[in-house]
Amino acid sequence: MASHSLFPKNWLKPIAAVTSGLFLLGGTLTLGNADELRLGDPSRSKGTADRPVANEYRPVAPETEMIALPDIGASSGSIMTPEAERRLGGRFMRSVRQSLPIIEDPLLSDYIQRLGHRLVTKSDAPHRPFTFFLIDQAMVNAFAGPGGYIGVYSGLFLESQTESELASVLAHEIAHVTQNHLFRSFERAQRMSGPAAAMMLGAILLGAASGSADAGIAGVAGVQASMVQDQINFTRANEKEADRLGIKTLDGADFDPRAMPVFFERMGHASRLYETGAPEFLRTHPVTTSRIADAMGRAEQYPHKQPKENVQFQLVRATLRLRQFESPEQGIKHFRNSLQDGRYRSEDAQRYGYALALMHARNYPKARKYIDLLLKEAPDQIFFLIADATLDEATGNSARALKTLESALDLYPVNYPLTMAYAGLLLDVKRAAKAEAILQDAVQLLPNNANLYKLLARAAGEAGNLVAAHQYQAEYYFLSFQMESAIQQLDIALREKGLSFYQSSRIEARLEEFQVEKEAMKRTL
Ligand SMILES: [Zn+2]
Repeated sequence: MASHSLFPKNWLKPIAAVTSGLFLLGGTLTLGNADELRLGDPSRSKGTADRPVANEYRPVAPETEMIALPDIGASSGSIMTPEAERRLGGRFMRSVRQSLPIIEDPLLSDYIQRLGHRLVTKSDAPHRPFTFFLIDQAMVNAFAGPGGYIGVYSGLFLESQTESELASVLAHEIAHVTQNHLFRSFERAQRMSGPAAAMMLGAILLGAASGSADAGIAGVAGVQASMVQDQINFTRANEKEADRLGIKTLDGADFDPRAMPVFFERMGHASRLYETGAPEFLRTHPVTTSRIADAMGRAEQYPHKQPKENVQFQLVRATLRLRQFESPEQGIKHFRNSLQDGRYRSEDAQRYGYALALMHARNYPKARKYIDLLLKEAPDQIFFLIADATLDEATGNSARALKTLESALDLYPVNYPLTMAYAGLLLDVKRAAKAEAILQDAVQLLPNNANLYKLLARAAGEAGNLVAAHQYQAEYYFLSFQMESAIQQLDIALREKGLSFYQSSRIEARLEEFQVEKEAMKRTL
């Protein structure tokens, strides 16, 4: 099985194939220029997926097309049309994927998506599209891009001690999106003339991608100082507005609104304590004493809440902590020590992190001991069930692993992490047709999940359904806003021998839709 490139550290190799399929998916998403990828032979992606991803941060280089200002679409010029915003978001996300290590582990991405959407439903724009994702870097930061794409760095996640604290950052970023702060910046850029406007726009996008609107702007040579100051003042007003609405959202979603000022203040303290400078989040979302006092005052207006601790928050946190270590041994040491000292908010999460570290170090008997312990306490916890199946497969007990995942899916039908784990395992035991059937059902219910399509393409390919494999791969590219690659896949599918009239006309119709979308995306930016 191919090693994956998502984990920057070599030791974090897939433990067993239950998870390896997932990692391979992630790998292909981090390709420098995914447009160059051809499916043709499913094994071809292996070589490119192995390419290491730079661990250090690289800002997104503005593409040459960015010189042109976006087609804002709405005739009033007030905000973009939803379609234009969706396409701009797609462009933005493609750049983000090329420059930042996005975490594709289904358990982690599913968690952040669920948390984000729980907040969105209580925001000012509950029906607007949002996508939440995690970035595997220690930076303490988060950002909102066009199209409702909200990224959270591992460093910020680890800095938060309760789910309400993490939720407070997401609620703040959601408010930036619902208030169209980014597009109001675009508008300001548009009112400027020629090259200055183009530079400003590039800077805004650059800043959004680096999570640092102010830094991005300051980094562009030639932008006049007054313009920069103007932008920063504008940003400060936005910050207060995002705090105010974020606090309301937190309360609506049954989180503790006081978590926002508390978290912001602690981030500020931490930066003074360690003399490492303020966390990025505070630099780009400037926190002043008055802003914290403001937020505290607002939070106090809401009834006091003690939200129920969600163990999954702590389990994701333990997983992210483990990814920070240079070797599994360091992870083992960390979790063993904290279990011994009793320094933790959740014992289960420490045991879970410990068990994962032990699995990575191939200490399977000891890992088994801890996983059994966890399952005894919480037999229906998806995180533990997937770890259980992973360990079973690693120790040659695929039959038991399959049973575990099958009964888990009975309990949680169409659950994304379980579906990916189950289909991945089926592929490993050469039951591709069954994997294909499972994933076909899943994409009906989760039609916007690109990773499900990616695994479905592999399943169809391994089951010998080549035309379908190209069609699914095309849908994956389409959902990833890689129109050239999507079109190529359908071109290849049309050249397959023995297509029925029905098949080819269906593919041609879809191809036409892709062509239209490709042209529209070109015009977007
Ligand atoms: Zn902000």
